[in-house]
Amino acid sequence: MPPEAENTPKRRKRKPKLGDTRHLFAALREHLASGTASLADFAKLVAEGLATDASVIYVARAGEQLELAATQGLNVQAVGHTRLRVGEGIVGMVAASGDIMNLADAQNHPLYAYRAEIGEENMASMLAVPVKRAGRTLGVIGAMSREPRVYAPLEVEALATVAMLLAEILAKAGATNMGEEGFSETLPRRYPGHVLSAGIARGKILPYGATAPIARLLTDDPETELKRLDIAVEEANKSLDGLMAGILPGGNAPRDVLEAYRMVAQSSGWLSQVRDAINDGLTAETAVDKVARNLRERMRRIADPYLRERLADIEDMVGRLMVALGGMAPKPERADGYILLVRRLGPADLLDWHSRGIAGVAIEEASPSGHAAILARALGLPALQVDRGAVEAAQEDDPALLDAEGGTLILRPEPEVLQVYDRALEARSVRAAALAAYRDLPAVTKDGTEICLMLNVGLAMELDQLEKTGADGIGLYRTEIAALAAGGIPDVAGQAAEYGRVLDRANGKKVQFRTLDLGADKLLPGETSMGEENPAMGWRSLRVALDRPAILRRQLRALLLGAQGRPLSVMFPMVATVEEFRTARDLLEAEAARIRPAPERLEAGTMLEVPSLLFQLPGLLAEADFISVGTNDLMQFLFAADRGTPALSDRYDTLSAPVLELLEKLVTCCQEAGVPLSVCGEAAGRPLDALAFAALGITTLSMSGNAILPVKAVLVEADLTKLRPVLRELRRAGAAGGSIREPLAVWAREHNLAI
Ligand code: PEP
Ligand code: MG
Repeated sequence: MPPEAENTPKRRKRKPKLGDTRHLFAALREHLASGTASLADFAKLVAEGLATDASVIYVARAGEQLELAATQGLNVQAVGHTRLRVGEGIVGMVAASGDIMNLADAQNHPLYAYRAEIGEENMASMLAVPVKRAGRTLGVIGAMSREPRVYAPLEVEALATVAMLLAEILAKAGATNMGEEGFSETLPRRYPGHVLSAGIARGKILPYGATAPIARLLTDDPETELKRLDIAVEEANKSLDGLMAGILPGGNAPRDVLEAYRMVAQSSGWLSQVRDAINDGLTAETAVDKVARNLRERMRRIADPYLRERLADIEDMVGRLMVALGGMAPKPERADGYILLVRRLGPADLLDWHSRGIAGVAIEEASPSGHAAILARALGLPALQVDRGAVEAAQEDDPALLDAEGGTLILRPEPEVLQVYDRALEARSVRAAALAAYRDLPAVTKDGTEICLMLNVGLAMELDQLEKTGADGIGLYRTEIAALAAGGIPDVAGQAAEYGRVLDRANGKKVQFRTLDLGADKLLPGETSMGEENPAMGWRSLRVALDRPAILRRQLRALLLGAQGRPLSVMFPMVATVEEFRTARDLLEAEAARIRPAPERLEAGTMLEVPSLLFQLPGLLAEADFISVGTNDLMQFLFAADRGTPALSDRYDTLSAPVLELLEKLVTCCQEAGVPLSVCGEAAGRPLDALAFAALGITTLSMSGNAILPVKAVLVEADLTKLRPVLRELRRAGAAGGSIREPLAVWAREHNLAI
């Protein structure tokens, strides 16, 4: 479709009613079916369909320009010549803002830009609509009339639909004949966000969840299209039923929530809008897309969170419908090196994409404590929660930088920015290579203290970190992660097989299995929180396990079966009283008494996450075989600071007086009682914190795989006998509650420690 086709005015056969969309779409369909339709035809049909005096189509050109590509009723000689900058004139403003303008007296509007060659002096009113697709403005389509009037809502709606069709056609035509070149596609765009899983990825972007260009836009057979819609609605319902069937037993709340969602999603209002659009001559997918666009527009303007959620429910249903109608592309076989950009992501999908080779992921709707984030961290996959709008604005294969450290997704980064990141990444890989040399060195400090460096693991695929890092074992195996990824807790045999495989891979190295730590931020699919005001401090983890012991007993049985006589260490999370620990340990012993072969050695330990345990140490140490400090939860309970709230993430420090004092006392008590002590929270994986912990006498540290070598590199170069007096002095000099992080870091650097 050449943009500069001949545009000879013809007599109108019939003057249609204002906003007669059916006639307009029928005429468009005929032209498109002929395969020879041009932009000029579009302009002509718009002028006829809206019974207006003139129409214009501007398309985006490189350099933020808009070029007149077709007109009906104005000077055709201006086609290909008249240009406006984005932001210039009414057309330019519509392109820049993405909003429709409907003006009775366009020429006296302050924004009006006069172009002599176009011959629009006689025109009074103008309706200008952006031609947008996937968040990019591809052009502007306008209708004009001599008579000063505001176009009626039906006419605005009709021109908006034509603009949508035109956008699809431009997208399909690609750059070859229509120059599908949006403004934003060449410009860098930054989306700030929250880090879900730290790391930096550079690659091409893969937006998923945005709709592919629609193959067939218009229909002369609405009946068939309505039937297709009904089938798609049925399919979408089935997928919802599947979701609901997967809900685990334990309360009606999840089902209620999904039922409520289904009611909203199927509410007649928006589906009847889709049906109306089909009756006007749009295919089912075009009609769903059109209604979805309107919804998104409305969502942008709604502040009320409840309503926004309801609209989000409908949009989710729109996605299901588009998949059912074939309007959404299936996942590619491979996505090696791509940065995935999605609206939402479940744990199973994250694993699926990871297996397809993605280098990182940006998610519009996610929280740091959500499943996707937990899994991304477990996989070491950089992940970022980004502001809404990124999915629509990105084009597949756009170059992108996912800075999941600084917290930004940059689409189409400037070359200088790329250079800076490239240098940083290069420096990092040089450092990684240097660190690899520490893999086979024993973790012994300069003064001869042996430190045991262990791994925190949640998924079988992380087990190769044992060999990669030379870790001494697994200090924390989070059993709930596999359940989260699988969407449910496997049966005893399934669990036993998993635990057996872990012990096989550990090959004699110690593994501390933590029993299921579900609830609060770790909900299985279909589970919803129980509406507790403080779920992190609510009925979760060991509390649920002790109140409903069947699940815990099954897991303990599976652990014993998986061990097959090998030594077994079991650790309980969220213990708040000695009594709770004792009850849990008794359950373990009761199961152990029934299972043969009995483990060569059976240990029952506790996480120390709840501060109340610190005041029950004599009782606890008399019963527990080992203690592991979970600094993540301990910090949140000690300082009453929610671990999932970004604004609080840097507020309280592990290297501050209360924590250091607490750890020091704990070390003394554990040493006196002869009970092994370790730290397995995130802090153990930070080199400076690990150094301080070692100086306090904590010689077992458990951390994620990528932290082992950096921590080891610092420890083997450190002399703890020199550090201890410094630490004492810094703590003495520091204000009560103050952090010693800064001065300690200065000391470490002065002693050539790579913190
Ligand atoms: C902790 O709380 O420090 C911990 C290691 O457990 P999780 O992060 O799984 O709650
Ligand atoms: Mg914890």
